[in-house]
Amino acid sequence: MKAVVYEGPRQVSVKDVPDARIERPTDVLVRITSANICGSDLHMYEGRTDFETGRWFGHENLGQVVEAGAGVDKVREGDWVVLPFNIACGHCKNCERQLTNYCLTAQPEPKLAGAAYGFADMGPYAGGQAELLRVPWGDFNCLRLGEDAEQRQTDYVMLADIFPTGYHATELAGVRPGDQTVVYGAGPVGLMAALSATIRGASKVMVVDRHADRLRLAESIGAIAIDDSKVDPVQAVLDETMGLGADNGCECVGYQAHEPDGREQANLTMNRLVASVRFTGKIGNVGVFVPQDPGSEDELAKQGKLAFDYGTFWFKGQHVGSGQAPVKKYNRQLRDLIAAGKAEPSFIVSHELPLDRAPEAYEHFDNRDDGWTKVVLHPAM
Ligand code: NAD
Ligand code: ZN
Repeated sequence: MKAVVYEGPRQVSVKDVPDARIERPTDVLVRITSANICGSDLHMYEGRTDFETGRWFGHENLGQVVEAGAGVDKVREGDWVVLPFNIACGHCKNCERQLTNYCLTAQPEPKLAGAAYGFADMGPYAGGQAELLRVPWGDFNCLRLGEDAEQRQTDYVMLADIFPTGYHATELAGVRPGDQTVVYGAGPVGLMAALSATIRGASKVMVVDRHADRLRLAESIGAIAIDDSKVDPVQAVLDETMGLGADNGCECVGYQAHEPDGREQANLTMNRLVASVRFTGKIGNVGVFVPQDPGSEDELAKQGKLAFDYGTFWFKGQHVGSGQAPVKKYNRQLRDLIAAGKAEPSFIVSHELPLDRAPEAYEHFDNRDDGWTKVVLHPAM
């Protein structure tokens, strides 16, 4: 089968790899018809996190079941399914508490928790930017879709990761009806957080970024766009909230946060959230921060890699929730909102391309080139 294989920093190629197959009776084999490129793939693509060359990416996957192992009861050949990016066993201490993002069984390394398809430090599982995908614990890890699945793939594929992830940001931030919510980052995840805040009844959603195309998408769902290359975003949020600050905020950028002029500063968005959110407000951080070895205390201070303005955060009595999203906790309800026509997360899709065009798609998405907001790869196209 063909797959998008990692060859080294900023290099992927589409190559023949061994076919995915059923390995255990609880596995399901899926023919992938839609697989997204995610901002999380870029951590590996750029070489910021270690990923073995020869492995392949892809954790936002949707397709049709071609085979179910002998121990699988709930899904059958022909079913359309979307696969939560967290691979989870369904019965460990964390899964029982809906914390499938920290499954203890799927992650073979005892010091870690949580597993995913085609991901550094998230277990040995192959990715879905390929023609076939093995889904472990298939009964638990397949979400079945209705009859409109094939026609509405670009909506439903967002259930694998970024729609539930954006929703999780608003859950961690405690967004309630009438709230004024600020979202830092208008990438796919930030736009899904803005959509989720709207679904939860926020009265005002403010989205901060500097890419005009992405800010326009935020406006298309009724959010207020704040361009931080033109205005001070903290002041803009205060102006929009009668000087009080937003009720809550979502961090949807992560440790690659930078100034509009390109200067990187990993703690920039957390500091701006602390300043933008009111006293006692909550912050939901889903942008990825990975442990960094700063080398020395001096370097740590210079990079600000791990520290944020905890003093102000404490003084304001704020709260923060963080980490990967437990996709299964939300994806049935979000699926049903899509099915009912009450949510259309595909508004962010800029490109639908065959697998062969993955290398150029990675390059454009990584550059945040104008108009490249979200790429859906179609292996069977
Ligand atoms: P992306 O890189 O396309 O989007 C990030 C956006 O942030 C860009 O539009 C960029 O211009 C903007 N940005 C950079 N610095 C900024 C700043 N100082 N202020 C405001 N905006 C700024 O990626 P994405 O796909 O939207 O993903 C965003 C983050 O979410 C990544 O770190 C990704 O790994 C993470 N993520 C987390 C989970 C999870 O489960 N927690 C799941 C998926 C993705
Ligand atoms: Zn993703």
